[in-house]
Amino acid sequence: MKVNQNPRIPNVLVVSNPAVKGTDVQNAPIFPRIELSEADFRAKTMEIFEEQPEGIPIDKADIVVSGGHGMKSAGGFESLKEIADLLGSAVGGTRRAVEEGWIKEASMIGVSGKIIRPKLLISFGASGANHWTAGFVGANKVVAIDSDPDAQVFDVCDIGIVDDLNEVIPVMIKKIKENLTKIDS
Ligand SMILES: Cc1cc2nc3c(=O)[nH]c(=O)nc-3n(C[C@H](O)[C@H](O)[C@H](O)COP(=O)(O)OP(=O)(O)OC[C@H]3O[C@@H](n4cnc5c(N)ncnc54)[C@H](O)[C@@H]3O)c2cc1C
Repeated sequence: MKVNQNPRIPNVLVVSNPAVKGTDVQNAPIFPRIELSEADFRAKTMEIFEEQPEGIPIDKADIVVSGGHGMKSAGGFESLKEIADLLGSAVGGTRRAVEEGWIKEASMIGVSGKIIRPKLLISFGASGANHWTAGFVGANKVVAIDSDPDAQVFDVCDIGIVDDLNEVIPVMIKKIKENLTKIDS
């Protein structure tokens, strides 16, 4: 369709309301005030529960280990918990991980989740969508692991590892354990 003129939008709201017929259109009330009581609602709010994260809350942790849809399952997040426990850190993730039920909503990073500023964020299997990366722009260092070399997450990280996370995670756990042993001895 080709439009040659500026589009015109008719004002139908005011004239269809009998309460304001014949009044000055500019000053006419468009939305009349409606008073509602509890009886007008079928649903009632009985109590509001705030979901508690498991372990350290992501917005309180210095290190956050984050998982995305590439983790493939709730079981996949168990290995992230192992890393987090070793580092004394928190586990977070993307909205897709929340939608799959792999992590709780309280652990979601991003514009619709929590905005965090950890010293270190380690990301596994998350593509790097803006909605998610906006949640950690204040992080000091970001390490990202993803099998897709073109993943957007590599544009926002300090260290990027292009590999299968299933290969990287066991090596990382082994190395952390070795280094913790060195610190202890
Ligand atoms: C209004 C709105 C608000 C939103 N708010 C948020 C928000 O607050 N937080 C948020 O996270 N999202 C939010 N989203 C969703 C967001 O846009 C993305 O869809 C989401 O972040 C993508 O999640 P993901 O990276 O886990 O999944 P995907 O984009 O599917 O990425 C999965 C990644 O895993 C990698 N991968 C797969 N298998 C492996 C493997 N074996 N090894 C290594 N890597 C692997 C893939 O290469 C891919 O890069 C919002 C969306 C909308 C529309």
